[in-house]
Amino acid sequence: MPNLSLLDDAQLTVSNLAHSATELVSPSLRIGVTGLSRAGKTVFLTSLIHALMHAANLPALHAQRSGRLIGARLTQQPDDGVARFAIEDHVDALINDRVWPRSTRQISQLRLTLRFEPQSGLSRVLGRSTLHLDMVDYPGEWLLDLPLLDQSFAQFSAEALVKARATGRERLADPFLRVLNDIDVEAPLDDRIANALAEAYTEYLRACRADETALSMLPPGRFLMPGDMEGSPALTFAPLEPPEDGAHLFNETLYRAFERRFEAYKRLVIKPFYIDHFARLDRQVVLVDTLAAINAGPEAMSDLQDALVAILKCFKPGKRNLISNIFGPRIDRIAFAATKADHLHHESHDRLEAILATLVGEATRKARFSGAQVQTLALASVRATREAKARKNGQMLKAVAGVPIAGETINGEQFDGEREVAIFPGDLPADPNALLRLGHDEQPLRFVRFRPPHLAAKNGEAPYLPHIRLDRLLEFLIGDKLN
Ligand code: GDP
Repeated sequence: MPNLSLLDDAQLTVSNLAHSATELVSPSLRIGVTGLSRAGKTVFLTSLIHALMHAANLPALHAQRSGRLIGARLTQQPDDGVARFAIEDHVDALINDRVWPRSTRQISQLRLTLRFEPQSGLSRVLGRSTLHLDMVDYPGEWLLDLPLLDQSFAQFSAEALVKARATGRERLADPFLRVLNDIDVEAPLDDRIANALAEAYTEYLRACRADETALSMLPPGRFLMPGDMEGSPALTFAPLEPPEDGAHLFNETLYRAFERRFEAYKRLVIKPFYIDHFARLDRQVVLVDTLAAINAGPEAMSDLQDALVAILKCFKPGKRNLISNIFGPRIDRIAFAATKADHLHHESHDRLEAILATLVGEATRKARFSGAQVQTLALASVRATREAKARKNGQMLKAVAGVPIAGETINGEQFDGEREVAIFPGDLPADPNALLRLGHDEQPLRFVRFRPPHLAAKNGEAPYLPHIRLDRLLEFLIGDKLN
């Protein structure tokens, strides 16, 4: 957990005090949705909001099953400086065009106000019958930046260079390391050299992101999503070898310049994200594309495990009480979800859940110890398949059927984006650790990406988006606030 200066703590305290005062009258719950690139954040949030707004079939959400959930509608989001989550465009893409929506590239937010019939004595006395749900969608890569708050430039450099030279990554890092080799860190800053070095480092980060066997992302996260800070000095640095005589180094040297830029990155990029967004979350959903990691092999699995451990270190979990409410942020519930479970027959869902539980095991134990509730489950935000049986070599296999996206291939057969096919993806091992022991060329599962399902409107009403266990997750996330 990064240490913030006293000033930052005071800033947080003041905003939490204001928050607590309005909270009694009109409670709000701020839920963060995160996960690495392509984990399924956009589809998840779209489906969840759509389901609540259209009173979809959510049997595991008690307030809905018992008829106490009256309705949900979009209301004005509390933060004017944050992009609005483009729910209408995403629903349109999924239902009308049957294409997946554009993935998360930045932080965005949406406020959904729920009306319900209060059940508990306290809610009735206080006249509480609304709940503002502030959903905040942000790239998991930004969380990987938080540990930098506690590091000096020298520590960041040492760690980054060890990773770049690690087996398996040196192939991707080679062009950057060659540029670095020719650099004299004690020479006066030359902007052309600085830019070339930063560009080579960014290119290496990009290669890591694109590489199928190394799923995890490396910091600084904003190098690949620069937004309006593109080209600014705060985003133009790279890790450097330490100078020989650091104590007597002139301010004008490349090393000192990069050191200052690294501090600027912390001040201008990481801290504002931490204070304005991350520290204000009440609950957190972490989405994990476990299937893609399984598919990519053991290195990807262990990379993913490392990334999850790093992400989880950022949370300050624990039970909320009046004191912690005012003096410090606490995340009291964390849900880990393995997404895209519709790629598997439901009989494999328990195994998928067990694999995710193993990946986040250590972090879960720590969070529980501090009083937070943790749930791990396998879900599909939008179910693109149905279950089917397929015969292979005289054996009946439990398969899934759906329409593969145009251009997807299996065993050399290319699909046209229109035809439905049944696919047997393979079996997940009963022992989750077996996946970490697989050889390089052993691939336990075989997937294709499916198109979103064909949905017909009923009586002019928007069709429901079919899902798997979204309601269970919702009950865990908001059920207690609807009492
Ligand atoms: P983000 O980068 O975390 O926002 O990821 P997205 O939500 O954009 O999802 C990335 C891709 O994963 C989508 O384009 C879909 O191909 C796939 N996907 C996400 N959720 C589901 C799901 O519930 N079922 C299926 N079959 N595919 C999904």
